Amino acid sequence: MSLLILIFGPPSIGKDTQADVLVRKCGFIKFQMSDLLRSLNSQVVDRIIASGDLVPARYVYKALLNSVDIISAALVSHPGVIITGFPRKTEDVDVMDKVLDLLSSRYGVYPKLVAFKLDGDYESILKRVRGRLVCPVCGAVYNVFTHPPKNDRLCDKDGAKLVRRIDDRTIDVFNKRWEEYKAQERILYVRLKDIVSAIYDIDATRAIKEIADDILRILKDEFGIKCIEK
Ligand SMILES: [Zn+2]
Repeated sequence: MSLLILIFGPPSIGKDTQADVLVRKCGFIKFQMSDLLRSLNSQVVDRIIASGDLVPARYVYKALLNSVDIISAALVSHPGVIITGFPRKTEDVDVMDKVLDLLSSRYGVYPKLVAFKLDGDYESILKRVRGRLVCPVCGAVYNVFTHPPKNDRLCDKDGAKLVRRIDDRTIDVFNKRWEEYKAQERILYVRLKDIVSAIYDIDATRAIKEIADDILRILKDEFGIKCIEK
């Protein structure tokens, strides 16, 4: 049986980074909700994403419906499928519930739904947001705290001088998304608990590897998923 994994938590806490580790080490497939939403090619949706606002559930549902063929195929051929950046609000949980129904009724696919909730305090995460460095040549993203380049401020791939891409707008969007998440967090958790097999709370203020090791251990112990250890 395949796992359908949701990684949720406040903005910029490293949900995508952890998903990438699972893709690399466990052979999972990752879908990013923002990509699925952008594939709707809707200017309205693109504008909402850019502003940092929550995308209404009807678009989220539409985006998942558009991709449900690929998602069901991925669930059949891989040990796990991850959706990141989702759920962000309680209506998203209802959407997930509908998609699970569809997966079983239309495709005969019954994944085990598991959620990882990444936790962290505002100060630690804001610090991380401020530490972000971007390569102007290849677009690689680094972080002085969690993922520094090998040579001080130079891109590992092409040696270009890295730049900070943090402006007031970035911080504003972060703050807005943080508040939105916090306002929903508790009820989201309660509602999600109704439809998942388990939710695991992970302290995500630690190093990327420590967080990943926790998640990998849970996948192995609880679900028998074999991943590369190193
Ligand atoms: Zn570069």
